[in-house]
Amino acid sequence: MTKRFAIIGAGMSGILAGIKLKERGIADFTIHEKAARLGGTWRDNTYPGLSCDVPSHVYAYSFELKGDWSHRFSPGAEIQGYFEGVAQKYGLAPHFRFDSEIERAVFRDGRWHLTARDGTTDVADFVISATGVLHHPAWPDIAGLEDFAGARFHSARWDHSVALDGKRVGVIGTGSTAIQIVPAIVDRVARLTLFQRTPQWVLPLANPAYSEEEKAMFVASAERLRQSYDYWAARFIDTFARAVIGDREEMAKIEKACRDNLLDNVHDPALRALLTPDYRAACKRLIMSDTFYPAIQKPNACVIADGIERIEPAGVRTRDGTLHALDVLVLATGFDAHAFVRPMDVVGDGGRRLADAWSDANEAYRSVAVPGFPNFFMLVGPNSPIGNFSVIQISELQIDYILQLVDLVRSGRCQAVAPSTEATRRFNADLREAMKGTVWVSGCRSWYLDKNGNPALWPWSFDRFRDEMRAPDLADFALTA
Ligand code: NAP
Repeated sequence: MTKRFAIIGAGMSGILAGIKLKERGIADFTIHEKAARLGGTWRDNTYPGLSCDVPSHVYAYSFELKGDWSHRFSPGAEIQGYFEGVAQKYGLAPHFRFDSEIERAVFRDGRWHLTARDGTTDVADFVISATGVLHHPAWPDIAGLEDFAGARFHSARWDHSVALDGKRVGVIGTGSTAIQIVPAIVDRVARLTLFQRTPQWVLPLANPAYSEEEKAMFVASAERLRQSYDYWAARFIDTFARAVIGDREEMAKIEKACRDNLLDNVHDPALRALLTPDYRAACKRLIMSDTFYPAIQKPNACVIADGIERIEPAGVRTRDGTLHALDVLVLATGFDAHAFVRPMDVVGDGGRRLADAWSDANEAYRSVAVPGFPNFFMLVGPNSPIGNFSVIQISELQIDYILQLVDLVRSGRCQAVAPSTEATRRFNADLREAMKGTVWVSGCRSWYLDKNGNPALWPWSFDRFRDEMRAPDLADFALTA
């Protein structure tokens, strides 16, 4: 029976969903994308120094490895080019509908009725939401932000028309983004002021370029490339991913590496004290960089940790009364990582709204589906293991799982499928219990934590995630005849 699909979002997961539908012989689908181009976070983020902190050989679809990545952690523009190339190669062009921001999706008479911002509509049997996580820029709630007389922009909306050379540039934030921006611009600007609210632990990971010989070797040998993929995937899973969910031995190694990095590479004791966190390594997203400490110690750079009082036309006034005069202000203040599918208004069976179902917490069944929302699935939904390993691996496992549920409908076994309330409740109770053993709740503020203080991540092992995604347990689902 022919069924129609609407995929929402043309980032890494939306492209993947399109490829997998085509692989199954499904041609009737549209990928709605609110922007004018595909790429998701790699389209939106173009800031200087942007690269991925997952090694390039594993930050790629497992079925479309790329041998000629320039670096171990390749720059953002290269990653954007990779996704554009893959979408073209797999013939997705006719399926994209750009500038199509879906504002509303309503389940009525057994189908999903979608309405875009411009009023156009679509009707589909299935919705696959691939709307991303680090997507909605978080604007800091700082008094006077609008008053700043110089150029001011969020890191995910970098204004390339603003010249930085010879300017006094302020960066607010010390997350992965800011820590990449600082080394990339410090030599161009007259003065770089980093406004730090909380110091970060930094793991000194080098980012060597691949030589021409290495690239040629990986391009020529699919086997060597696969070995490199497996090697990097295993390194993450066996070390970092184990550490964050409670492996003390692995965590001790990470903590020591971070402490040694600070001691060995920050020479001024006063600056070192300023940069020393009072919480455990990896409680926040661990920063991977061997360029930040050298950059912040350059004579034209400084860390200001006095707390921001307000922003004035001439610069940033800190609580000690000092005005830090600036020409350019960069807000590297992160994202609202808990919006997930929202602000899209999703209305399920019997008028049940996703916004209401999630008013207290984003509770999904195994990250991919929500009770009362039949034939509606999410890629990289709540509690996906985004803090642990490559999000592409996660998305691949999730889409295979989702398509097994889709096949129940396509084969005529049922008309609609959604998880049961009881199974979802049980899953989320288990999640909350398991979170108690993770480093994410050991005492820090981070985007990992929702408004109730619960991490939006996966508290178990990669093996468990892979096992849970192998095949749906149909006892946990309500199948509508
Ligand atoms: P982030 O980790 O959420 O960091 C935001 C920073 O802004 C924090 O230092 C935060 O301080 C600060 N901040 C927020 N509001 C503030 C305010 N009102 N006043 C002062 N400071 C404020 O955001 P991000 O750096 O954009 O990174 C988000 C995630 O994106 C990363 O964790 C990572 O998963 C991903 N990412 C990855 C890469 C990579 O692959 N290399 C690069 C960039 C981003 P507090 O710490 O005190 O809250």
